[in-house]
Amino acid sequence: MNSSLRTKLSISYVAVALICIILISIFTTLFVYKHFEEYVKQNTEQKNREIVTTLSGQYMGNGKWNTKVIETIGVSSMENGIILKVKDINGNIIWDAKTHNNGMCQRIIEHMSNNASRIPGRGKSGYTEVPYTINYNLNKVGTVEIGTYGDNYLNEHDIAFINDLYNLLWAVGIFSLILSLLFGTVMSKRLVSPIARVINTAKAISKGFYSDRIKEKSNTREINQLTVTINDLAENMEKQEILRKRLTGDVAHELRTPLATLQSHLEAMMDGIWPADSERLKSCHEEIVRISKMVGDLEKLARYESENFVLNMDTFDITELAKRQIHNFESEFLSKGLELKLTGADCRVYADKDKISQVLVNLLSNALKYTPEGGMVVINIQYNDVNTEISVTDNGPGIPGEDLPYIFERFYRADKSRNKLTGGSGIGLAICKSIVLAHGGSINVQSNIGKGTKFTFTIPKI
Ligand code: ADP
Repeated sequence: MNSSLRTKLSISYVAVALICIILISIFTTLFVYKHFEEYVKQNTEQKNREIVTTLSGQYMGNGKWNTKVIETIGVSSMENGIILKVKDINGNIIWDAKTHNNGMCQRIIEHMSNNASRIPGRGKSGYTEVPYTINYNLNKVGTVEIGTYGDNYLNEHDIAFINDLYNLLWAVGIFSLILSLLFGTVMSKRLVSPIARVINTAKAISKGFYSDRIKEKSNTREINQLTVTINDLAENMEKQEILRKRLTGDVAHELRTPLATLQSHLEAMMDGIWPADSERLKSCHEEIVRISKMVGDLEKLARYESENFVLNMDTFDITELAKRQIHNFESEFLSKGLELKLTGADCRVYADKDKISQVLVNLLSNALKYTPEGGMVVINIQYNDVNTEISVTDNGPGIPGEDLPYIFERFYRADKSRNKLTGGSGIGLAICKSIVLAHGGSINVQSNIGKGTKFTFTIPKI
């Protein structure tokens, strides 16, 4: 059945209360039947024994009885609803309640019968007279027959007690039911309201409203975790959406600029406005090279990000690799008046040499592109038990704080106006990131505007 959480919770509360009430009623009834019956029996027996003891005190010896006191005992017993018949050793009646007042005895028996019928199963055996022996100095001197209505007969006080008990049980039962219904409703409301909000937000997210967030806090840990997860999901989706939109725009933009240049140049040459000389053709060629590089970079990135990307792992000297790259970049750095240094420890790593070399190349070419004349770039290599840490630090212009979270996304450029100048397309760092992640390492950036930028990546030890 596809019923709501609120209904299910309320039903559960009421069901638990009902089960408790039924169990308490069953156990109480069993207790009353077993222990109370025992108690009543013992009580009656004790009272009867007391009567017998009092009667035996009235024997005066030589077959003589204190008939006056016996009559008083008999009458007061009748007033308490007990019918007595006292006989001497020969069976001669000393005192008989029925002879004394038969009408009252009949009323007592009738009353007992009424009481017995009020509680089912009571007084089944009907009115009987139970004989007790009266002893004097351990010798039998007579008998007394005490009238009872079955051996599990309950008198008025006993019945009143049981009725009160059952009334109390009913009251507690009804009260518990109302309370459980109230609790169930309140608790389910408290649980369901935040879940309903999570559902609404999740629905909004599924419709593309990624900026929706759940702000209310719940005092249920699991609901809070659900809320945080949905908010994180929304934030991630929002980020992805922003990046997706920007990516489409950026790809179009990156392609449009060189294509427009190419188109205008070619049209001018075709229309005879410009001569198709080697300089014009060279300029067209440069634009084509730029587009090819960009497409090549994109292809590379797609390959690195694909699940089938296989690393060619080997152990090699990373310091040696850094030195070789410094050698390769030397002339470019020199011609721009930049200093390039290597510091840190000699270290061997287990990684894909070509791909790590690509990361270094990208970071060094960025440092070269963005650091102004007279600046300095330092490669530092450190290691510990867990990983090897390689950093490339420059004292260039730095990257604005708001751009730092996006710097490793493809096509993202902190300063778009510098694009033409630097010739970058914003794919270099995305490639670095996918290579480092494929190695199980991490890459991050620290930057201060006007002071410089430090890129650090790690390669885990095996
Ligand atoms: P690009 O081809 O534009 O250099 P990257 O992905 O390599 O693409 O870099 C993304 C952006 O990060 C760059 O456009 C630039 O704004 C910024 N950037 C990267 N390295 C540096 C650096 N060393 N100093 C300042 N800005 C940098």
